[in-house]
Amino acid sequence: MDHFLYRDGVLHAEDVPLTRIAADVGTPFYCYSTATLTRHFRLFQDALAGLDHLVCFAIKSLSNQAILQTLAELGAGMDVVSGGEYRRALAAGVPGDRIVFSGVGKTRAEMEYALTHGIRQFNVESAEELRVLSSVASAMGAVAPITLRVNPDVDAKTHEKIATGRKEDKFGVPITQARAIYAEAATLSGIEIVGVDVHIGSQLTDLAPFEAAFSKIADLTRELRADGHTIRRLDLGGGLGIPYTRSNETPPLPLEYGAMIRRVLGDLDVEIEIEPGRLIAGNAGILVASVIYLKEGEGRNFLILDAAMNDLIRPAMYGAHHDIVPVQEAAAGLELHPVDIVGPVCESGDTFAKARNMPPLAPDDLVVFRSAGAYGAVMSSEYNTRPLIPEVLVKDDQYAVIRPRPSFDEIINRDTLPAWMTPKP
Ligand SMILES: *Cc1c(COP(=O)(O)O)cnc(C)c1O
Repeated sequence: MDHFLYRDGVLHAEDVPLTRIAADVGTPFYCYSTATLTRHFRLFQDALAGLDHLVCFAIKSLSNQAILQTLAELGAGMDVVSGGEYRRALAAGVPGDRIVFSGVGKTRAEMEYALTHGIRQFNVESAEELRVLSSVASAMGAVAPITLRVNPDVDAKTHEKIATGRKEDKFGVPITQARAIYAEAATLSGIEIVGVDVHIGSQLTDLAPFEAAFSKIADLTRELRADGHTIRRLDLGGGLGIPYTRSNETPPLPLEYGAMIRRVLGDLDVEIEIEPGRLIAGNAGILVASVIYLKEGEGRNFLILDAAMNDLIRPAMYGAHHDIVPVQEAAAGLELHPVDIVGPVCESGDTFAKARNMPPLAPDDLVVFRSAGAYGAVMSSEYNTRPLIPEVLVKDDQYAVIRPRPSFDEIINRDTLPAWMTPKP
């Protein structure tokens, strides 16, 4: 459920007509709903109610400061995968003891920075990283709380590029080696074992792979405890999928996910951490674009928009589907026609949808990509020197630009000339 609904024939974000924001800000832009973000965060809180738990928002899915602060004020922790995201979390007012640091390539500088400013735990992904963390922490006279990210060799049955829990994936340590690495961790200075971590992929639409992974983690937890380790926390990662089409997808609900967690892990007497990104942010955001041209081709027609693959790369990168709807509601019973929906970038990959049935549209009409809140703005670029598009946050009847569109001068002046060149006037 989200808060982007038609009212009097015009699509609204909460109580604000998108036509008003478009007239003010210009297209294309991202638009987020505070009510939807809040609702989705609370679904996880409710799903884990009664369990000692922390919901850590995966910053990489949507990292605008206004979004992070909205969630932080609701009590969210944060899952970060870089020093930059760690700084974003701090800047949003999240205390270090609510920040978990994931990722396969943490640098010494990132470790040092997080140890200086506070960290709930590092989710360590290899024995090599563990040793480096031990040396960094020891040199600082600090102690780094850690979990080991375990790769349970479970197929998440999701898109190839976002499956992370099979043994051929680069993530985590093989579950078969986990006990040996925990044994080593226990001997290292500057390291405190606090738990176990797992994250098997993103956009999972079935609970079975989660359950398979969590069962293995439950067994491992018992073995590690028998080995004498203190395992008081399980980080279960993110990955719960969302419906990208209104019609036929029914991914599991957070409540069902929570019930499964209770069933599989409830008797372990552990603190549960989860790291959802997409389910909180995905349907809380849309991308609003304008039609530039309708182009009639041979046997196919093209709807050319002012948004492109640099603004929303998911269709080009993952073959992802986004529902695309007009801001002015199409009259009931209107005949739909198939069009290829594309952007202006000079690549055939810049195609959002092929043969998509759409109502008649004209230049300057507004359209909306639904479910674009997660892995949308954060993956955008300025390819073709197209400025990063603005982000707008709506709350009830208010809206605010939370990242402005840069000017062309700002973009061009980011480049610097070497001393041997003379600047042109
Ligand atoms: C990407 C990622 C997440 C978030 O995944 P979603 O599918 O957006 O919920 C959580 N944890 C880790 C370690 C990740 O890499």
